[in-house]
Amino acid sequence: KSGYGRDGIYRSLRPTLVLPKDSNLSLVSFLFRNSDSYPHKLALIDADLSITLSFSELKSIVIKVAHGLLNLGISKSDVVLIFAPNSYQFPICFLAITSIGAVATTANPLYTTSELSKQIKDSNPKLVITVPELWGKVKGFNLPAVFLGTKEVSLPLESGSRIRSFHSLVESGGSNSDFPVSDVKQSDISTLLYSSGTTGVSKGVILTHGNFIAASLMVTMDQVMAGEMHNVFLCFLPMFHVFGLAVITYSQLQMGNAVAIMGKFEFEMVLKTIEKYRVTHMWVVPPVILALSKQSLVKKYDLSSLRNIGSGAAPLGKDLMKECAKNLPDTIISQGYGMTETSGVVSVEDPRICARHSGSAGILTAGIEAQIVSVEAAVPLPPNQLGEIWVRGPNMMRGYLNNPQATKDTIDKKGWVHTGDLGYFDDDGQLFVVDRIKELIKYKATLNSAIPFFSIDLHKVAPAELEGLLVSHPEILDAVVIPYPDAEAGEVPVAYVVRSPNSTLAGEDIQKFIADQASGIEWKMLCSVTIADIFFSSSPILVSVLQVAPFKRLRKVTFINTVPKSASGKILRRELVQKVKSKM
Ligand code: AMP
Repeated sequence: KSGYGRDGIYRSLRPTLVLPKDSNLSLVSFLFRNSDSYPHKLALIDADLSITLSFSELKSIVIKVAHGLLNLGISKSDVVLIFAPNSYQFPICFLAITSIGAVATTANPLYTTSELSKQIKDSNPKLVITVPELWGKVKGFNLPAVFLGTKEVSLPLESGSRIRSFHSLVESGGSNSDFPVSDVKQSDISTLLYSSGTTGVSKGVILTHGNFIAASLMVTMDQVMAGEMHNVFLCFLPMFHVFGLAVITYSQLQMGNAVAIMGKFEFEMVLKTIEKYRVTHMWVVPPVILALSKQSLVKKYDLSSLRNIGSGAAPLGKDLMKECAKNLPDTIISQGYGMTETSGVVSVEDPRICARHSGSAGILTAGIEAQIVSVEAAVPLPPNQLGEIWVRGPNMMRGYLNNPQATKDTIDKKGWVHTGDLGYFDDDGQLFVVDRIKELIKYKATLNSAIPFFSIDLHKVAPAELEGLLVSHPEILDAVVIPYPDAEAGEVPVAYVVRSPNSTLAGEDIQKFIADQASGIEWKMLCSVTIADIFFSSSPILVSVLQVAPFKRLRKVTFINTVPKSASGKILRRELVQKVKSKM
């Protein structure tokens, strides 16, 4: 029932994944494989510019841009950097680049010149696709450029002939109605996505055409099984990240669904766009779930078209899921888990079989195998035991660019990607992701020394778990938990909390709120455990007891105005930890 085998491997409970056999398949040939049978179906909506493109219009413009890129001298294996916010032109350029066998790399528009410089040195692009507003950050690199934007985009005088507009690129593609001849294979590199770098230096993740194709089939399998064919997905998540680019845009377009694109996240605009375009699916990061749960604006708009909200990229606790479901009772709220290194999703809830709002990241997607590996003993663990999550499947990266050591550390000879995340499977094959191993707060619990054979993981505090509890408080808008040095305990958890505007909550109220919940759950669990269980069993009950132990109580609460987050929705805990360290 859990998918756990005698060999220590968890296998997907979904139907078998059938991959296309043709090795000469590119992202575009796969995406447009059936589109001639639905040429007029809506493919892209640019919600900011009110522009829509059907599948035949999309194909024709991608073909033109592909020829335009060849005319600019871009050829197979050349890298092209897209450094721009989301717009309908972003996926067009991405698809055109990969259609000629060139490699697309993307960068966060918020990057500083020096951050960009590292990526440019590492990936060595021949061309940059950007917007006039970002030109100041790129011009020093002396690369030829294409400016995205409306027809009237004005080119800087100093640029000479090395800059052209997106529209002139399209025009230079002439009247071609077929993709340029190319010998792109599934095994060729399509994309270099720089991983978010929240736990270290940003690295170029090498993904092939085959990786993207496999990942897109995995992500859309449940829709195929349910016979859902006319969905409208909303994409305000950045397309420089795997979530916006692969999980939403590429996967849904290849499925024949429409993608409504927004250049940035602005909450009310999101609600208006759902209403206007009758959006059916919105895949988001936890901060958006937070907004949907706490903001009364939700009630002002007609969101009745919204059938599914999927959250990923960072932990989402069950309490917040329940809060959000109260505001949107007709929408299914589910969670998935994945990484850039896995071309997106490796597990996701299937609302037809997964229990609602359990806080799990769902069951393995088709074609994925996983192991939960004990952090100290490096042995595979059965259901309900915590360990590092390892995954394997056809969507795993080839490695990191120019970084053989990091590649060796992350993907082993048998193809397992060591995610660096701590989690466990339950008896129904649902994966629970606790947090990044590196982000755990190392509290020296007394239990640890009293019972030395206990796994040391059980005495670490997952900040995400406490954050999940904190935001379930009606007067707490957002929260972050970090380690704080403590002479006796090593590290203790402290919280930084954003209160709702008129709240008079004090730090002690919040500490009590957490302590009350912890002791309440603790008591319930203890009732069902015997002393023998505690000492000799590795049962799930034991995990539960320790997960709510008193060492998880907050030692200090500080009020702040906002919680620092990355563009892909991850809490930037390291920033706060650094600030606290430098203050000390
Ligand atoms: P990225 O490569 O930027 O997509 O980051 C991948 C990381 O995001 C994973 O290794 C996890 O630490 C985290 N992550 C993604 N989805 C979830 C989830 N549902 N729950 C907890 N962490 C997640």
